[in-house]
Amino acid sequence: MAPKKLVAIRVDPVLCVGSGMCISAHPDRFAFKPDGHADYVGRELDEATAAEAAELCPVSAISLVYEETEGR
Ligand code: SF4
Repeated sequence: MAPKKLVAIRVDPVLCVGSGMCISAHPDRFAFKPDGHADYVGRELDEATAAEAAELCPVSAISLVYEETEGR
């Protein structure tokens, strides 16, 4: 399988219920927006942290977006 490159970390504002689990676990990477939903605020894409936060999120609102970098 071709290696994948992480290109984005997304929080779905429709799914996010504002539980704050991601922010409690990683306050340097996630923060609440004024609308009460979380967003990824890290300067660089921290794959391990985002993957852990995605596991913690009770509504699976956090997703890691990959781009295939080889094999095309
Ligand atoms: S853990 Fe999920 S539901 Fe809770 S604030 Fe973060 S993204 Fe939103």
